[in-house]
Amino acid sequence: MRWSYSASRSFRQCQRQWFFKNRAANARAKDPFQKRAYLLSKLQSISAWRGKIVDDVISETIIPNLNRGFFITLAAAKTRARDLFNRQLAYAKRHPITDLTLQVSKEGDDFAVFHAMEYEGELPEQEIEQAWCEVETALVNLFSLEDIKRILKSSDYIVAQRALQFTLMDDVTVLAYPDVIAFRDDAPPAIIDWKVHAFGMNDAWLQLAIYAIALSRCKPHADFPRGFETQPQEITLYEVQLLTNVVRKHSLEKEQMIEAEEYMISSAYEIACLTEGRKYADLNVEDFRTAVYEEACQRCAFRAICWEKSHVY
Ligand code: SF4
Repeated sequence: MRWSYSASRSFRQCQRQWFFKNRAANARAKDPFQKRAYLLSKLQSISAWRGKIVDDVISETIIPNLNRGFFITLAAAKTRARDLFNRQLAYAKRHPITDLTLQVSKEGDDFAVFHAMEYEGELPEQEIEQAWCEVETALVNLFSLEDIKRILKSSDYIVAQRALQFTLMDDVTVLAYPDVIAFRDDAPPAIIDWKVHAFGMNDAWLQLAIYAIALSRCKPHADFPRGFETQPQEITLYEVQLLTNVVRKHSLEKEQMIEAEEYMISSAYEIACLTEGRKYADLNVEDFRTAVYEEACQRCAFRAICWEKSHVY
């Protein structure tokens, strides 16, 4: 079983949502229900989408340029963001996900589908305008964060959105995708997590602690520095709230390491007890508890197939 921090949160919020995303959804399945679950799993809220645009500009434009020795200008970053924003918005308005033959992997970076189109049938224009303002704000703030720019510019090599995997316990592999890992010759690596949240109140230490543990235990990728090894306590962890311009620097104490380890093990154990290693065909959706709070259903991508199966609320 693959375990991730986001899957653990989804499981605690609604076991059935976890089932749809992690067991039912399958891009290559012949079963139309599984294909539909896969396409629904791609639905995004407008706020998640604008955060992803910022992430994509950083990881696909700013970081590759930094690795070549250039720090692109704010104007260039905004132009790239606007291009992505316009293309994805035009695609999302077509909302082609009722077509079960759609192959997401062939749609390139135009692809975006919105929760609002699926469940309300239209896009909230004001929210879209607000989303663009927030993309711009996030990029302006990023370019004003001198400490973070200094870390990025002084790094010897940076990887973005790279999968880190390690074995947590029998049959459980942890999968983590830190936004940025900055390797430095003269210092331990730094991990940066970008957050594009309006209030920026969430303290992301647990998520960052799991990333640090994953970086210390994973099999290094071929492009990691030769002989790379590190300890979680050595890694500098930054949570960068790009809308509120707050940077939180975290360092791991022994108690936090233990807490993060216990969180992973208890969550993985909870999921494993319910699924017992069984695949989709051997599982019954009714064995997965529905959401405790109605608000979770309002935001849920899988409402269409969940409510077809049973009247949850
Ligand atoms: S609609 Fe509600 S109960 Fe059904 S999967 Fe989503 S969150 Fe869970």
